[in-house]
Amino acid sequence: MENRCNGDGKESFKPPEIKFTKLFVNGQFVDSVSGKTFETVNPATGEVIAKVAEGVEADIDLAVKAAREAFDHGRWPRMSGFERGRIMSKFADLIEQNIEELAALDSVDAGKLLASGKTVDIPHCLHILRYYAGAADKIHGETLKLAGEYQGYTLLEPIGVVGHIIPWNYPSTMFLMKSSPALAAGCTMVIKPAEQTPLSALFYAHLAKQAGIPDGVINVVNGFGPTAGAALCSHMNVDAISFTGSTETGRLVMEAAAKSNLKTVSLELGGKSPLIIFDDADVDMAGEICVAGSRVYVQEGIYDEFVRKAAESAKSWVVGDPFDPNVQQGPQVDKTQFERVLSYIELGKTEGATLLTGGTRCGDKGYYIEPTIFTDVKEEMRIAQEEIFGPVMSLMKFKTIEEAIEKANATRYGLAAGIVTKDLNTANRVTRSVRAGTIWINCYFAFDPGCPFGGYKMSGFGRDLGMHAINKYLQVKSVVTPLHSSPW
Ligand code: NAD
Repeated sequence: MENRCNGDGKESFKPPEIKFTKLFVNGQFVDSVSGKTFETVNPATGEVIAKVAEGVEADIDLAVKAAREAFDHGRWPRMSGFERGRIMSKFADLIEQNIEELAALDSVDAGKLLASGKTVDIPHCLHILRYYAGAADKIHGETLKLAGEYQGYTLLEPIGVVGHIIPWNYPSTMFLMKSSPALAAGCTMVIKPAEQTPLSALFYAHLAKQAGIPDGVINVVNGFGPTAGAALCSHMNVDAISFTGSTETGRLVMEAAAKSNLKTVSLELGGKSPLIIFDDADVDMAGEICVAGSRVYVQEGIYDEFVRKAAESAKSWVVGDPFDPNVQQGPQVDKTQFERVLSYIELGKTEGATLLTGGTRCGDKGYYIEPTIFTDVKEEMRIAQEEIFGPVMSLMKFKTIEEAIEKANATRYGLAAGIVTKDLNTANRVTRSVRAGTIWINCYFAFDPGCPFGGYKMSGFGRDLGMHAINKYLQVKSVVTPLHSSPW
């Protein structure tokens, strides 16, 4: 079977209308201070979709001023959690009414599959927003019985102005995963989307305003990392940064926070998540699960059968136009990422791994890469250690559970891990031994708004999703009073 590049061959591309390209500051769409713009490109064709206002330090400064004013004097942090939740629910309803358009924006800008955008990604975003809308009036402190003649209680207060810096891989999910818990907490914010995917964030900002989120609470400044991103991290009036991106950039974010006002930082960074498949696994089920795996360990008893099935399934995988409902894999997000993935494939070959399937670009237009599988991969190879962030899987064999655990832990990352087995003892043991923020047992890449997500080791710290995420956006204030008349 051959890879079906470009789906069934017919062009189904219908570009969405691009309505918003300016910065969103203090409730208004505005040009950048310099008037400069940058191009955003459709990765399916390599063609320019739109010119987008490019924010730099001066624009970040204006956005932070608006967020600061909205925090220090505005309604949002002062209204009841119930009222914030009501407005957030309205925001969710508006997103739901515009689901087609939002999914199309992420397809044209990021190469996301339109069909899964409409049925999986944006519905997941709605679920996240509604989860936190429901949480907004359930944020409360503790009452404390103190030693001596004192009593105390804690107030959980919004941390202030938050800077969210997000990557390109899930533009909508990242936008809502970061903003929703911060909104519930009563914070105001400046969001810096990835430069590869600036479009849907502006649409979300527009809908937030329509829903009644006051001006200045959400500001969106598109621009590049070393300019707009760095200015946000160094800003003296930003109280917290919530960052998702690469480990290398995470280090810069922390450094900038340390060198400026010691703002709090949470980092969701890279991963090289292992998927461990034991001999007792159903090979067909394991094959379906492994689609998203980058480092797959298969026990020796089923290794050969697994390799054969994985190759068959990679070859029948349909790569092509993200607007085509038959397509299972779209393009890489941009030329840089496309070239980076191809260079890792070359590296895998020179490191001595065996190329089982794929290995080249798909078609001659856009940034498509064939689903690629390497076998005979050794732990020390760079393709087994470094994050490739593309359709490249390394298959490795193991004998014992101890060996699987040791290999799974043998990277600097600890984002997530998967286990496929019918044996509860094996699943429990591996779960306790693998140092990763999420363990999926007999599933992979299963997310829920209620389930915290984040890394161990150099995959970062702090959690998105779940009630844990709200804590990133809160301060704890202790209040102490004497039980009787003042002892002084
Ligand atoms: P990146 O770190 O280069 O960019 C991410 C964001 O950081 C972008 O908005 C970018 O403009 C900004 N940025 C870049 N330099 C900056 C600087 N000096 N100061 C402040 N901001 C800066 O990452 P990328 O290659 O665009 O994105 C892919 C990476 O994101 C991968 O490594 C991936 O693993 C990671 N990621 C992690 C998670 C997670 O939950 N842990 C989720 C998705 C993606």
